[in-house]
Amino acid sequence: MEMSQREHRIYNPAVECISRDELHQLQSERLVATVKREYENVPMYRARMDAAGVKPEDIRGVDDLKYLPFMEKTDLRDYYPFDLLASPKSEIVRIQGSSGTTGKPIVSGYTRNDIEIWSEMMARTLTAAGATKDDVVQVTYGLGLFTGGFGAYQGADKIGAMVIPMSSGNTNRQIMMMKDLGTTLLCCTPSYATYLGETIREMGIDPNKDLKLKAGCFGAEPWTEEMRKRIEELLGIDACDIYGLTEISGPGVAFECLEKHGMHINEDHVIAEIINPATGEQLPYGKPGELVFTTITKTGMPMLRYRTHDICTLTDEKCECGRTLARMGRITGRTDDMLVIRGVNVFPSQIESVLVRADGVAPHYMLIVDRVNSSDTLEVQVEMTEDMFGDTVSHIENIRKYITDQIKSVVGIASKVTLVAPKSIPRSEGKAKRVIDNRNLH
Ligand code: ADP
Ligand code: ZN
Repeated sequence: MEMSQREHRIYNPAVECISRDELHQLQSERLVATVKREYENVPMYRARMDAAGVKPEDIRGVDDLKYLPFMEKTDLRDYYPFDLLASPKSEIVRIQGSSGTTGKPIVSGYTRNDIEIWSEMMARTLTAAGATKDDVVQVTYGLGLFTGGFGAYQGADKIGAMVIPMSSGNTNRQIMMMKDLGTTLLCCTPSYATYLGETIREMGIDPNKDLKLKAGCFGAEPWTEEMRKRIEELLGIDACDIYGLTEISGPGVAFECLEKHGMHINEDHVIAEIINPATGEQLPYGKPGELVFTTITKTGMPMLRYRTHDICTLTDEKCECGRTLARMGRITGRTDDMLVIRGVNVFPSQIESVLVRADGVAPHYMLIVDRVNSSDTLEVQVEMTEDMFGDTVSHIENIRKYITDQIKSVVGIASKVTLVAPKSIPRSEGKAKRVIDNRNLH
């Protein structure tokens, strides 16, 4: 890796730069306490450990994690809303819920301590993107049940930055505030960051002259390296990836530093594992698989071996920023987001990487999967750019053909590519909806 010229800010160096041995020891102690607490306070988990023949005393450290049974999103639905709490309800000071991408929203309960931990994780996250108390942080994630808004708000507040709690929506007002108040750091989904960037350009605003933006923390949905470049160009900023989920606390479970080379995991609060999603077996660093988290400091609703269904790889290689916390790569898909089309595994992110590289189209797309004569079909609708819209038919056809060929070679299946008019695909203010699967309707 080439030497970095960057100045790296670290919120809590004692933890973020801890030696791997010390970390292992700390994680082990905290895991033992969490398992005991969970066994004593959560009947569902005690029953599950008993059924697996595992007693709390069998778990002596991180290396014994593999003996514990997994938790699943369905558990949060089955024991909704309070049956997984490990603390008395009177100790719970907040409820947050997931955005419900894959069904009925789930909720999580936080003790005061849990809110404090989450805020610290987000303070580390924003600091890694360069934030200090002199910054102006615009929170454009939804403030509400969804964890994005409150997470970013709490982290910025902890740093002592000036927070603008905009919540999502109303693009014109977002841009007005950004200009008037001199926003330096933006927090929103990458799809909305792209939309904001495009709108800013259309309004004739030059981010490098008219705005003070320097960085953004973008997450809550999968995005690509190509999309990062586009956002950085549109807004003239450093775009950092940020990961989290309601079950584990919210955004800030993992965050990128300005090296932008994977997200550091807040390993003093969570243990990350990668497993083979089919067998549940642990996989070594470097191998792609399903990400599993165990919380080791949470007291409201601790999670032991929670299966995220997110697919990525882990690495504990040294990072140029000085942090020793292991990193997770981009989420390349979600096992429950993965489409199986004519037997081939297809992730929307693969198609996105093709579209972002193609000329003449904007990275706004929709995948429509259907079944015709018992065979699966995939239609990729993608928006043309304004310039291209007025172009000759043969040129448009060439681009269409190019994209079709690229999808065939990257994903391995044939698709029908349809170029649609600029701005005709609905924009999202939160997580983008990219797939319509009509196969269940037949
Ligand atoms: P859901 O989307 O399941 O309703 P949440 O709102 O808690 O639940 O979102 C958590 C999920 O969002 C993660 O499991 C992951 O799939 C996705 N996600 C969050 N951050 C990122 C990121 N940086 N890259 C890709 N996916 C992300
Ligand atoms: Zn780093």
